[in-house]
Amino acid sequence: MARFVIRLDDICPTMDHEKFARARASFEAAGVRPLIGVVPDNRDPDLVIDTPDPDFWKMVRALDKAGWGVSQHGYQHRIHTGDRGLLGISPRSEFAGRPFEVQRDDLEQGKKIMADQGIVAEIFMAPFHSYDRATLAALKSLGFTTVTDGYGLYPWRDGGLTFVPQLFESSANIGVGVYTMCLHTNNMTTEEIDALGRFVKSNAARIIGFDQASDRVWPAALIWPLGKSLKLALTAKRKLRPN
Ligand SMILES: [Zn+2]
Repeated sequence: MARFVIRLDDICPTMDHEKFARARASFEAAGVRPLIGVVPDNRDPDLVIDTPDPDFWKMVRALDKAGWGVSQHGYQHRIHTGDRGLLGISPRSEFAGRPFEVQRDDLEQGKKIMADQGIVAEIFMAPFHSYDRATLAALKSLGFTTVTDGYGLYPWRDGGLTFVPQLFESSANIGVGVYTMCLHTNNMTTEEIDALGRFVKSNAARIIGFDQASDRVWPAALIWPLGKSLKLALTAKRKLRPN
C-alpha cells in the first residue's frame, strides 16, 4: 500500500500565517506530522505575504518538539542561476551551477541561523527542486543526512545521503511506494486547505512522518533504473505546463 509524507514548502516569518494555521490545525487533529521546509533568511519577495511573525521560531521549535520534520529550505530562497540541477524541473536555482565553496558558505550560513534558533538542520529541501553534485557534497560536509526530493518509489541512499522521493504535488500514486505530497500553503485557497484537511483525516493511517519514511531505504540498484524512467516521464509531463 502506498504511504504518504506531507511536505510544506516556503515556511518563513512572512508566510501566510492564517493559511498555515488552518492547515496545521487539520494535521494536528488527525495526528499527522508533516515535514516543513524553513527558509533560514528569506529574501524572496514572493514569500512575503504577511508581516513578520515575532513568534515564528518559537512555533518552529514547538513543531520540532511535537515530532514534525524540520528541514532547511535553502538559505535565502534567492534565484542565483537558471540551472535546473540534477532533477531538471525548473530553470532557476539558489545553488545549482554555483561553485562548491559558495554553495557551502550559503548552506552553512543557513544552518547557523537554524542552530541559533535551537534547530539542528539535518534535512535539506532545495528551493525550486534544484541542486547539483556540488550541493550534495556541500550538504554531506556540513553534516546533513537527508534530502527531500528525487525520482523513485522508495527512499534510497547515495553518496552518504538518504533521499526521500518527491514525485507529485497531489496524492497521485501507483499503489506502492512512499510519496511526498509537496504543498505550498501560501498559494492554496481556503477550499483547497479544507480539502487537504479532509484527505488527511480519512487517510491518516497511510500518512507517515518524514523520519519513518527515511528509515525505509531500498537498495540503490533497485531504485535507480526505476528512478531514471520516472524522471524521463515526469520531466516530460512537467514541461507541458509552465512552472
Ligand atoms: Zn520554496
